[in-house]
Amino acid sequence: MTITCITNHLCHLITFPNTIFASYSILQPCFTEVGHNSLYFLHSFKRTGIKKDIEKLYEAVPQLINVFKIKEKIGEGTFSSVYLATAQLQTGYEEKMALKHLIPTSHPLRIAAELQCLTVAGGQDNVMGVKYCFRKNDHVVIVMPYLEHESFLDILNSLSFEEVREYMFNLMKALRRIHHFGIVHRDVKPSNFLYNRRLKEYALVDFGLAQGTPDTKIELLKTAHTEDQQGSCSQNNPTLALGNGISVSVTAPKQIVQQSASKAVDKRSSSLSKMQIKQGKGGKEDSVHHSVQRSVFGERNFNVYSSTYQENSSTKLIKQSKMIDVSSRKLVTKKKIISTKTVSNGAARKAASGCPSSLICDCFATDRVCSVCLSRCQQVAPRAGTPGFRAPEVLTKCPTQTTAIDMWSAGIIFLSLLSGRYPFYKASDDLTALAQIMTVRGSRETIQAAKTFGKSVLCTQVVPAQNLRTLCEKLRGTSSSCKRTQGEVLSTSVNDSAVPVAVDKPCVPETLRKQIQHLKSFQEGDGAFEMKATDMKGWDQVPDEAYDLLDKLLDLNPATRITAKEALLHPFFKDMRL
Ligand code: ADP
Ligand code: MG
Ligand code: ZN
Repeated sequence: MTITCITNHLCHLITFPNTIFASYSILQPCFTEVGHNSLYFLHSFKRTGIKKDIEKLYEAVPQLINVFKIKEKIGEGTFSSVYLATAQLQTGYEEKMALKHLIPTSHPLRIAAELQCLTVAGGQDNVMGVKYCFRKNDHVVIVMPYLEHESFLDILNSLSFEEVREYMFNLMKALRRIHHFGIVHRDVKPSNFLYNRRLKEYALVDFGLAQGTPDTKIELLKTAHTEDQQGSCSQNNPTLALGNGISVSVTAPKQIVQQSASKAVDKRSSSLSKMQIKQGKGGKEDSVHHSVQRSVFGERNFNVYSSTYQENSSTKLIKQSKMIDVSSRKLVTKKKIISTKTVSNGAARKAASGCPSSLICDCFATDRVCSVCLSRCQQVAPRAGTPGFRAPEVLTKCPTQTTAIDMWSAGIIFLSLLSGRYPFYKASDDLTALAQIMTVRGSRETIQAAKTFGKSVLCTQVVPAQNLRTLCEKLRGTSSSCKRTQGEVLSTSVNDSAVPVAVDKPCVPETLRKQIQHLKSFQEGDGAFEMKATDMKGWDQVPDEAYDLLDKLLDLNPATRITAKEALLHPFFKDMRL
């Protein structure tokens, strides 16, 4: 394996021990065939964009022309575009592949590490493998076996309880595998765990944010680990006022002792999170990345606007399609740049070198950010991922993070599967996400757990923990819970804005729910409406083991949180083959 060649920019094809190129016959470029067809005409705008992207990809990495027919764009993330392609085998058989074209600004080490995760841990136990990798200049294309998969949201409410059990079992298997190799995925969420319902096939993808444990077996993640331990400024204690009476802030206990002379200084604000709240931004946090060069590992560049970013021809390739598809994102990105710039400007830069404590903050427990807080430097801790899936220790920027963070994210997926709500937590920033976790797991419990990993969380209101079964059954609208808990969940939740997605669905009495279902099926002209109303697909008999496992995955304390290996032995999965 010559993976390091990406860094040296020496060779164009990264080879793997078991890759046989000879089996592919030469193909003609295919993109000229697409276009003058009425089917495409309706979506011509989008299609033209995709077609152009495909053309540009062939131009950027011409080696692909000889091997692949690129058919479709199947995914577009922050750091990559993924295409469906076919390769003509000599036998005449066409094999489907997924081509992941990485954003050209990705750091070579980052790319190499992603590849190494796939080659070393992938190809087994529901972890995606890799077939080939192509490179020309700063363009890298990772070729993987293609797994056709469902959209999580589309199938969420039609899954049977047994399917959910299988899904979780297979997710645990994938996590056990990567954790065994000392890989922390950091971005476990449904779009990174491909699921083919019909074939019962699963694949964990996207190691673009992965990091290594101190004893990782992935050589290239070792660099990542050391880099993240360096140069961290531990002086950031963001405060968040939710505008509804609750405010949450996080400090490191040591600092409280050091600065007890001036109480106000203890509580600091993150300008970034506050500004997001004030703007009422609900978009995907990922959007900020479009204008920021990707850091090698972790998110050391995360909050800093990169002025070195240059729109050269290669970055245009990625950006153009994004402009066509998601014009609204551009606006959000711009706003973010402004707010993030504030952090890295003037006083902030000074603060970054020493975080002056002589200036007194006067904004604690208010819903504004004072100039002192605006100039505070950010604590640097790994924080990659999607806010709604981030573990408490990630949200509070705990510098030591383990494979347990993936287990939390798996717990959030499980929570969605059991409650039928996705995304379960939708937060645009970390402290909102933390407040949302509190509304389900309890504020005192969260504060207590944070103490164990060295973080002091302040919350202006006490929020009780919720019973997981009660909550899930209520949200799902399952009969037993409605009878048992009417009024219970809503009265215990602090306010709806804290759990925007989860607690807003009133519990409809069973008879009424059935009537509505009957009515709906009738309107849809579906003759099988009798069936729909009565077939509970196992949801009327969810065993306690399910909620016990959920509770153990959503353990606020990473030290006691269940591991993937342990989870596979949990009674919830009894009689399933390992
Ligand atoms: P990103 O880092 O941009 O999120 P991912 O590796 O997660 O990139 O891929 C983005 C999307 O592309 C996935 O959510 C999935 O829909 C699709 N995809 C990725 N790899 C494959 C694959 N091997 N087979 C089928 N689809 C894939
Ligand atoms: Mg992804
Ligand atoms: Zn302040």
